[in-house]
Amino acid sequence: MNKPKIVILGAGYGGIITSKKLEKLLKSGEADVTLINKHEYHYITTQLHKTGAGTAADRQIAIQIPELINPEKTKFKKGNVMAVDVSKQAVHLEGGETVEYDYLLIALGFDIETFGIPGIKEHTFAIRSFRSTKAIYNQIIRQLSLYKEDKDPSRLTFVVAGGGFTGIEMLGELAEGLPKLCKKYDVPFEDVKIVAVEAAASVIPFFPKESIQYTTEVLEKFNIKMYMSTKILECTPEKVVLENNIEIPTHTLIWSCGVKGNPIIQNCGLPIEKGKLPVDSFLRVKDKKNIFSIGDCSLFMQDEKNALPPTAQVALQEADVCAKNIVTTLRGGNLKAFEYHHKGSVASIGTFAAVGKVGNFRLSGLFGAFMKQVIEARYLFNLGGPSLIIKQHVGVSKEPVKVTANQ
Ligand code: FAD
Ligand code: NAD
Repeated sequence: MNKPKIVILGAGYGGIITSKKLEKLLKSGEADVTLINKHEYHYITTQLHKTGAGTAADRQIAIQIPELINPEKTKFKKGNVMAVDVSKQAVHLEGGETVEYDYLLIALGFDIETFGIPGIKEHTFAIRSFRSTKAIYNQIIRQLSLYKEDKDPSRLTFVVAGGGFTGIEMLGELAEGLPKLCKKYDVPFEDVKIVAVEAAASVIPFFPKESIQYTTEVLEKFNIKMYMSTKILECTPEKVVLENNIEIPTHTLIWSCGVKGNPIIQNCGLPIEKGKLPVDSFLRVKDKKNIFSIGDCSLFMQDEKNALPPTAQVALQEADVCAKNIVTTLRGGNLKAFEYHHKGSVASIGTFAAVGKVGNFRLSGLFGAFMKQVIEARYLFNLGGPSLIIKQHVGVSKEPVKVTANQ
């Protein structure tokens, strides 16, 4: 008898953890599980700002997927998902290959939101994937090298758009990484300008005012020029245009103004709401019994008005319930309704500062930074046990991870 085929699209936070849970839950030979991902590696999305600023080794952020899964239980396929044909229960990959499924999990993550602002798609550097943040690093190096030839000050102006968590993490990392890169490439750091632009009145506008004040002080201590209550209107290869007739000459605008669901999900013949796949309380795509979706590409409504935010914390909690519900669907029985439990949020501002909130308790400073490390270590533990934590902190290879144009 043919075994049921479970196919997981995306080996990010949601996809890889679901596949690891399935390895534990499924009996030997009970189903064929295939995990499909664009790259051979899983990247630690929550640390991508470090790749951008060159403050982490490639292999601390991008970990080979075959090292993380049990090949006897999960088949890994490197492939770029182009579309899903729901009527034929098949996934189409770039290059023409088709993969059939009986049960499908769509965990294809996010893309950046550009709001249709002119020049953003073409000329900015996104914090979206390992590859896109490696491009930020390469751009910084290129600008440092070119500055030595033409002394054009705009080459040393690095602008971060958006002062949400992603923006402040990127700013902190640049403030820490750029002095070292300047030293390495023999460029005076005093000539470098780091600029933050945020449309709201402050950075992390959704956080308590004490946390906003602390974050602003840390960023100012780093000498970061802050434009608050100022929207970005346009970007060209040579400058960024802001509200109030402000123009900043630069070749490097790092875009972190929010995210949306991966546009590939629009090619799945499935319902779309707010650009995402709406799911029921069991994490099944609306009106589908055999298609699940979790993480940033799915829309889980907590109540009539409020959707869960696009965070790793949500994706990881969903992965746990989703794996159980896939197995229950296969075997028969009652599905488990997903309930989200918010454990708090902590964002780093470089290595030695962070800002966060756990329950009513506000975190900041060194303690916050320590807690952020603990959260990241906990994820590594779930991914590969204590040996992965040790390897990622001590024994990680410094060899660069190859990124090619067609990845
Ligand atoms: P992802 O982790 O983005 O995974 C999607 C996967 O799908 C990727 O492996 C991708 O390569 C793959 N993929 C995409 N398209 C295709 C395709 N067409 N074919 C095949 N594969 C494809 N959240 C927190 O809770 N805490 C944090 O501290 C935190 N820090 C963050 C820091 C940064 C810099 C950023 C950018 C985000 C941060 N987030 C944080 C948000 C968090 O990273 C995301 O919510 C989380 O990664 C979502 O998980 P996911 O599985 O839905 O998607
Ligand atoms: P976000 O939506 O939280 O913040 C984007 C910011 O960009 C907003 O403050 C917005 O006002 C600003 N903005 C939008 N358009 C603008 C414009 N034209 N000009 C200037 N500013 C503009 O997005 P994010 O920071 O990318 O975060 C995405 C998700 O990832 C969120 O759910 C976040 O909580 C999560 N995340 C969590 C952490 C953490 O917990 N440490 C870190 C990073 C991201």
